[in-house]
Amino acid sequence: VPVAAEPQPAGPTRTLDGTRIHLLANINLLAELPLAGQMGAAGIGLYRTEFPFLIRPSFPSETEQYLVYRKVVESMTGKPVVFRTLDIGGEKTLSYADAETEPNPELGLRSIRFTLAYRDIFEQQVRAILRAAAGSRTPAIMFPLISSVDDFRKARQVVTDCLDQLRAEGLEHHDHPAIGMMVELPAVVESMAEFAAEADFFAIGTNDFVQYMLGVDRSNKRVADYYRPEHPSVLRALNRVVRVAIEHKKPISICGEMAHDETMIPFLLGIGMRRLSIDPQFMPAVRTCITGLTIDACQAYAGELLAAGSVSAVREILSRQPNLAA
Ligand code: PEP
Ligand code: MG
Repeated sequence: VPVAAEPQPAGPTRTLDGTRIHLLANINLLAELPLAGQMGAAGIGLYRTEFPFLIRPSFPSETEQYLVYRKVVESMTGKPVVFRTLDIGGEKTLSYADAETEPNPELGLRSIRFTLAYRDIFEQQVRAILRAAAGSRTPAIMFPLISSVDDFRKARQVVTDCLDQLRAEGLEHHDHPAIGMMVELPAVVESMAEFAAEADFFAIGTNDFVQYMLGVDRSNKRVADYYRPEHPSVLRALNRVVRVAIEHKKPISICGEMAHDETMIPFLLGIGMRRLSIDPQFMPAVRTCITGLTIDACQAYAGELLAAGSVSAVREILSRQPNLAA
């Protein structure tokens, strides 16, 4: 873990004109928690729970998971933690699970589809999260790769069932976590209003969103040139998703790599994004970037970018380095 930067101020991050921006941490492993603390993260916007599963030879038990998750909760001392449920399949495969090979794993039984298919594994994880969150103020459970409201309801029902079990068993747990979802599939964009009526919060996973929006494998070097976060359709879709979330007063964050890209941050603030979840190592640079921007200038800039109709036109605007402190 690189610890090059000085400890960061614990206070909130604000734009030049005083708008609060929540800087949250993406965490894969417990070893990254101290850095998130030193960097002054306002909480964990994405805890990728699959990493403890990936480094083991077999599925961790509910108790083993509980112990890991409890450390995450305790280390954040009252700050919010978003637990993303198991996001395996695709490029993150478990050697010990589901040995069947798929011709097209990125479109296969991955992520929420895997956990809905293996309900016992899903329940063990959700129970471990709920138990670890006992006594914490703001725990949140988030489902990855949701493609329909129906998926979301099925996944939420698992949480409801686990809560019933834990109550019946008299086990200590958190009884009303926030339940949210990732926006990673283009199918979500057109149904955002319906999702916003059901989900407590959203997190946009641009790594996958760009992959699926543009039909480009995010880890295939041969098509890397086609993987363009600055594609006009990506920018416009992000704008719509954020707008609907704001209209429905549902918190929305962005937790893909785009969130720490300093050329994209003015656009993100300009379309109304106020929560960025990033790897802790990027926090000092992102904080510096934000404190030099005004929301008015970002809004005007975002408007310009949204009007650009080609990748090259977007790039031309991005390369101009405008003064966004006005
Ligand atoms: C994403 O898809 O942007 C995301 C944050 O999830 P992951 O990178 O773990 O797929
Ligand atoms: Mg993803």
